[in-house]
Amino acid sequence: MGKPTGFIEFSRVAPEKRQPEKRVKDYNEFVARLPDQQLNQQAARCMNCGVPFCHSGCPLGNIIPEFNDAVYRQNWREAYEILSATNNFPEFTGRICPAPCESACVLGINQSPVAIEEIEKHIIEIAFDKGFVVPKKINLRTGKKVAVVGSGPAGLAAAAQLNYAGHEVTVFERDDQPGGLLRYGIPDFKLEKWVVERRITLMKEEGIIFRCNANVGVNTSISDLLRGFHSIVLAGGSTIPRDLDIPGRQLKGVHFAMDFLKQQNKRVSNTAAGNTEEIKATGKQVVVIGGGDTGSDCVGTSNRQGAVSVTQFELLPKPPEKRTAYMPWPTYPMTLKTSSSHEEGVERNWAVVTKAFLGDETGHLTALRIADLEWTCGSDGRPAQFAERPGSERTIPCQQVFLAMGFLHPQHDGLINELGISLDERGNVKADEQFFQTSIPKIFTAGDMRRGQSLVVWAISEGRECARKVDEFLMGSSLLESKELSC
Ligand code: SF4
Repeated sequence: MGKPTGFIEFSRVAPEKRQPEKRVKDYNEFVARLPDQQLNQQAARCMNCGVPFCHSGCPLGNIIPEFNDAVYRQNWREAYEILSATNNFPEFTGRICPAPCESACVLGINQSPVAIEEIEKHIIEIAFDKGFVVPKKINLRTGKKVAVVGSGPAGLAAAAQLNYAGHEVTVFERDDQPGGLLRYGIPDFKLEKWVVERRITLMKEEGIIFRCNANVGVNTSISDLLRGFHSIVLAGGSTIPRDLDIPGRQLKGVHFAMDFLKQQNKRVSNTAAGNTEEIKATGKQVVVIGGGDTGSDCVGTSNRQGAVSVTQFELLPKPPEKRTAYMPWPTYPMTLKTSSSHEEGVERNWAVVTKAFLGDETGHLTALRIADLEWTCGSDGRPAQFAERPGSERTIPCQQVFLAMGFLHPQHDGLINELGISLDERGNVKADEQFFQTSIPKIFTAGDMRRGQSLVVWAISEGRECARKVDEFLMGSSLLESKELSC
C-alpha cells in the first residue's frame, strides 16, 4: 500500500501562496494547487500506520490512509469515493479546517505530518474537474418530510444525508442566501463563495428545497413547521457573541467581529447589506480583541480595507512555538497558531486586558485603556490564574475595535423560547451527543447550536450523525453512514 519509503524520500511541501503585499489588494483565495506529481509525492509520505491516529483525530472519521494510497496510485475516482463516503463537503474542510488529523498524524512525531488537508482539497477539486461529482439520484422516497433550520455546515450536512435517506428536506435560512457561516462569516480570501454556491446548486439538483429569508419564530411560523414536518433539525449555530462590558462600550467604532465580516462578505458578493451602519477599517488604527479564527479573519479583512495599523490582543499568554512536555502527542497541543492573515501584517499581543474604551465629545472611539497580565500555571502546566501587572496600564490610540471573543450560545429569542425547548447549563440546545434528540421528541439539533462554538468539521460531523438519528426516529433503522460504524 502506498510507497513504503515515501516518508524517507519526500519532505512535506506546501502549495505556493500569493505574496501578502499582493493578496491584500483583493479578496480572492491565494493558495495555489500543488502540481499533480508533487501531490502524488505528498500522498506517498503516508506510512499506512497500523493504528492511524489521523483517522481518529478527524471529527468525521475520514479514512485517510486509504485515500492517500489512492492518490499515490493516481486513482482519483477511488480517492473521491473514499473521501466523500465520510465527508459531504471536502471543498470546505480542505480550505478552512485547522486539520486536527494532521495534529494527530504519527509522522508528526519527528517530521512534518502528511499534508492531509491539501490532499483532501486536491481530491475534491479534481473530482469536480473530471465530472465525478454529479447530483445523486435518490431512488426511493419515504414520504417523510424533514425541516432543517439553518443552512450552515451542520444544517447542510444534515440536509444532504436526510435527502440521501429518501426524506423530503426543506432548509429554512433566515438570511437572503444559504450557507450560514460559510457564506457570510468566513471571508472570501479563505473560501470563495462560488465554492459554496457550487455545492448548494448540487444539493438543489438532488431535490433539497431551500427557503431563504425565512426566520423561523420571526417571519416563519413554528407551529406550521411542527404541523407540516415529521421531524425538525435545529442547526442555527451559536450566534450570540461574547461582549466586553467595560466603560465606553457604547462608543461609535466598537463592533462585534461578525457584523464587520458579514458586511464585507456581502460587499464582495454585491449583496445589499440592509439598513445597517457601515463598518469599515479604512484609514483607521484597528484593534482586534480575541486571538481565534474570527479574530484573524478581522485582521485579514482590515488589512484589505486599508487599515493604518492592525493590533490583536489575546487575554491568554503566548503559547509555545512547539509542543512541550505538557502537551504529549497525540493530544491536541496548545501551540502558537498563526493564520495566513497574520502574515499580512499585524502586531500580536498576548496577556493583555482591555479596561476601557475612550472616546471624544462626538461619541467616537479614540483610544483604549489596556494593561498587561501575569499568568500563573496550574499543576498541569496550563495557564490558570492571572493578575494585572502593576504599572503596566497605558492608553493606545484606536478608532476601530472588533470584538472577536467567541460566542456564548444560540439566539434564544424567537424559535427557542417559543418552542420552550430545554437548554443546557451554557444556554445551548440540550441534546445528548449520541442521539441529538431535544426535549421535544420530533425535534433534533446539531452543530454549534448543540455543542457550542466549534469547528466547521465538527459541525459537518454532527449534521451527519444527527441525520442518522432522525432517520432511525422516522424509519426505525438507518442505512446512513456513521462515524461510529467506520471506526
Ligand atoms: Fe498516514 Fe499520518 Fe495517518 Fe499514519 S497517521 S496513516 S502517516 S496520515
